[in-house]
Amino acid sequence: MNNRKNKVLLIYTGGTIGMVQDESGALQPFAMERIYDALPLLHRTNYLIDSRQLDRIIDSSNMTPEFWVDIATIIEQNYDDYDGFVVLHGTDTMAYTASALSFMFKNLSKPIVLTGSQLPLGMLRSDGRENIICALEIASCQQVVIPEVTIFFESHLYRGNRSTKVSAENFDAFSSFNYPSLATAGINISYKKHLFMPMPAGALKVRKCFDRRIAVLKLFPGITPATVQSVVRTPDLQGLVIETFGSGNAPTEHWFIDALQEALDNGVIVFNVTQCKAGAVQMCQYQASCDMDRIGVIGGHDITIEAAVTKMMYLLGSFPGQRDKVRDRLWKNLRGEISMETEVDGEDF
Ligand code: ASP
Repeated sequence: MNNRKNKVLLIYTGGTIGMVQDESGALQPFAMERIYDALPLLHRTNYLIDSRQLDRIIDSSNMTPEFWVDIATIIEQNYDDYDGFVVLHGTDTMAYTASALSFMFKNLSKPIVLTGSQLPLGMLRSDGRENIICALEIASCQQVVIPEVTIFFESHLYRGNRSTKVSAENFDAFSSFNYPSLATAGINISYKKHLFMPMPAGALKVRKCFDRRIAVLKLFPGITPATVQSVVRTPDLQGLVIETFGSGNAPTEHWFIDALQEALDNGVIVFNVTQCKAGAVQMCQYQASCDMDRIGVIGGHDITIEAAVTKMMYLLGSFPGQRDKVRDRLWKNLRGEISMETEVDGEDF
């Protein structure tokens, strides 16, 4: 029998879970030791927990790719010494960080579980206690190893790059509309192993380059040519994610298609993602997406906006100046973020 205790590294980045009120009553992040004050139970688990925190603890509204790199570096440097990783993170941009990490870690064979809370851990009704303990249990589990970046929140474990924050009020703050949850926590934690990413054969590779020169253009009825052009003409723009209607539809007026054409002529990669929470972009299902298809806009199928933004930054950063490689990988399934049975050729990505 294996008597070795599993080890988990708990990484604190900030967010409500570790916040206290300052004199004015505003919530401010606090230091890692307070997590243990707030949750002495953490000392009594049957796995070992070490902790790190980012040099700067932030409200996740301040999240940037530099912090993603910091989180990934902590995990990479400690990868061989731990069985799993739990990242405590603000809920606001947790789905972006989970998506970014999923792209950065190729051949991940250990669980990275992000969690946070809607109420600070120090408050009586906080959801943080349950979330941290379940996340730690999942990350330390010896019988079931989930080789993925995930989000645990209010009894559900979601694939990170499929998740979206859906509520600023309820404890059930996250959802994954286009992919089922990977596990559910009740009396027991029930794992749906058939939904996990396969255990990789190759060695871990961590890519840490992101290109921030992208924009998101959310369409709405009545959007003006000036608004669209101002986004499309952003100096040095490399990638544009357009949030379209329904199954990927947009105005068919000339000025709109001309603006996208101008972007494409300038070398901008344009990615079409639906504003709908569930379902997928189907280019050319309606006339209202045919022109975009014709000029070379790439359909994002059922990818979330969070995964689309981070994937665009990740691919542009990983393949600088190699637009064909970025274009070819955008619509393919790299880390389970998109429901496509596609393979990227042997090359590293
Ligand atoms: N503003 C906070 C953050 O995302 C909210 C939270 O943690 O839930 O950092």
